[in-house]
Amino acid sequence: AAVKEPPKIHRLEESVVNRIAAGEVIQRPVSAVKELVENSLDANATSINVVVKDGGLKLIQVSDDGHGIRYEDLPILCERHTTSKLSKYEDLQSIKSMGFRGEALASMTYVGHVTVTTITKGHLHGYRVSYRDGVMENEPKACAAVKGTQIMVENLFYNMIARRKTLQNSSDDYTKIVDLLSRMAIHHTNVSFSCRKHGAARADVHSIATSSRLDSIRTVYGVSVASNLVQLEASEYNDSSSFVFKMDGYVSNSNYVAKKTTMVLFVNDRLVECAPLKRAVEIVYAATFPKASKPFIYMSIVLPPEHVDVNVHPTKREVSLLNQELIVEKIQSAVELKLRQSNDSRTYKEQT
Ligand code: ADP
Ligand code: MG
Repeated sequence: AAVKEPPKIHRLEESVVNRIAAGEVIQRPVSAVKELVENSLDANATSINVVVKDGGLKLIQVSDDGHGIRYEDLPILCERHTTSKLSKYEDLQSIKSMGFRGEALASMTYVGHVTVTTITKGHLHGYRVSYRDGVMENEPKACAAVKGTQIMVENLFYNMIARRKTLQNSSDDYTKIVDLLSRMAIHHTNVSFSCRKHGAARADVHSIATSSRLDSIRTVYGVSVASNLVQLEASEYNDSSSFVFKMDGYVSNSNYVAKKTTMVLFVNDRLVECAPLKRAVEIVYAATFPKASKPFIYMSIVLPPEHVDVNVHPTKREVSLLNQELIVEKIQSAVELKLRQSNDSRTYKEQT
């Protein structure tokens, strides 16, 4: 065969690069909701309300009562790599905020139409402004606004035909969005969350700020879950008596019945997944309770910040922890002990 001329290498247009990157950050409607809610949490909101239309493809609207966005910052708000949370690389070490990349809002403007309404403290009116492909479409318009920020994303993936098609065919993201907000709500108990379909009178998630985790679980997951939980703690300290990890949580007892495991896991306040930990806990349940019910698990693990690398891919929710084997083992035995105790006390109660 004839040797072909090598194809010419050229530089991609910036808009193409940005749209490709945006499609990775915002994979589906629920990823946009997660980013927006995390921004609201970072803005110290105490109330976060989500409205969704057509599984998020037509509309995602997140309103909060946080600190708002400065008028002067609006022109660069949706540019890539603009953030108020990080200045130098070293800050990543001790970062407390959920975000730091300055990519989420920008990404949304490359794959959808974004409108921001915001007001800051001490001002009589707010501003509304729309964005496309990272840039402000018009000068911000003065408008009436209550405290905080409202971000609207419309027509998500309007310019990514294949993505839109697959999403339209799959069962829509609304269930995933409700699930996400339920998880967020039982962890961030000092924040009230709501989530509803556009036009619906009833909210599908409606939590109220409370100091009790159990109350919050009851509100979000129902009495049948909350009344069948036991509280759990575990921790490990090293030789110099600084902690390796701390965990507190709630796990279901033998009265709880479910076909699927619900595992709500936060590591240093980030919602993550950890398959080995989930498996380890499931094994304990299978061994302790004869009926094949799967557990409900809420766990909040705190690690020294220097043990957590937050700078993995924006959407990578699966974490691997430093000292993972030890942590999994410790938590597994804590669960085992707790279940045995609650089982014993139940048998005891039944006898008396
Ligand atoms: P990041 O969260 O990584 O900083 P984003 O693109 O998500 O990047 O947001 C960019 C910036 O916009 C944030 O750093 C923050 O200053 C501001 N911002 C976004 N959402 C909100 C909000 N709901 N309330 C106040 N400020 C916000
Ligand atoms: Mg963010």
